[in-house]
Amino acid sequence: MTAPYTARCACGSVSATIRGEPLAIRLCWCRQCQQIAAGGPTTNAVFQVADIDLVGRLSTHSFPAASGNTLTQHFCPSCGAPVYGQSSARMHLASIRLGFLDVGHGLKPDTSIWTEEAPDWAVIDPALARFDRQAPPPVRQD
Ligand SMILES: [Zn+2]
Ligand SMILES: [Zn+2]
Repeated sequence: MTAPYTARCACGSVSATIRGEPLAIRLCWCRQCQQIAAGGPTTNAVFQVADIDLVGRLSTHSFPAASGNTLTQHFCPSCGAPVYGQSSARMHLASIRLGFLDVGHGLKPDTSIWTEEAPDWAVIDPALARFDRQAPPPVRQD
């Protein structure tokens, strides 16, 4: 499938339409992601904020990242479903959690990041690009 993508949280109080293609799709194994993803990695499609129309109220939690930037997690206050993450260094991008997208989107991860913090049971797909820590910021391909 190609854009537009539709999305909704587990309870349906937050939804979105996304009118562009992701710049990257990454599995993040950092410790903070394990905390919000029930122990595994978060799976994030990096979209341009300008392409995203969000409907509904979100709660947020911000914390300082190892890079010195502030990371903010946005989630549904009713069901707790992760919706997107954002870095203060790249406010034009949003890492939409892949589980927020409606079934049938056809998107798959291309990169694993922060693998040095992955638990010892983690299976890191050798077919994906891999970074021990942060990957370089995604660049628009068009
Ligand atoms: Zn919800
Ligand atoms: Zn992470």
